[in-house]
Amino acid sequence: MSDWNRVLADLSQADRDFAQVWRFELKHRSATFCRVFVRDRGRCWICNKFVHPGLPAGDPKSGTVDHVHALMHGGSSMLGNLRLAHSHCNNERGAPPPWYPVRP
Ligand SMILES: [Zn+2]
Repeated sequence: MSDWNRVLADLSQADRDFAQVWRFELKHRSATFCRVFVRDRGRCWICNKFVHPGLPAGDPKSGTVDHVHALMHGGSSMLGNLRLAHSHCNNERGAPPPWYPVRP
C-alpha cells in the first residue's frame, strides 16, 4: 500500500497514531479523505459527531469531504478548505451562499 505509506509520511506522530487505529477502513479511501479524516479526528464539522470511515458510499452516515467555501463559489480543493462531514450533513447544507458562517 504505497499510497497509505505516503499518507502516513505526511503526518505528525499523533496523527499517525490516530490513522493506524482506522487503517483497515482508511486504506479503502482516497488519500485526501484520509488526511481530512485524521486531521479532524473523525469528527463531522457540521454535527460534531463521529464519522465511521468504513461505511459505504450511499450510506447517509458515511464520510465525505466537504468544501467549506463551495467550489461553485470559488472555493479551493486545498486541505484548508476541506472538512470531514457525514454524507447527510453535507447534503443538508448543500452549497451555501459565500457568507455562510465558517466554524473555526
Ligand atoms: Zn454530521
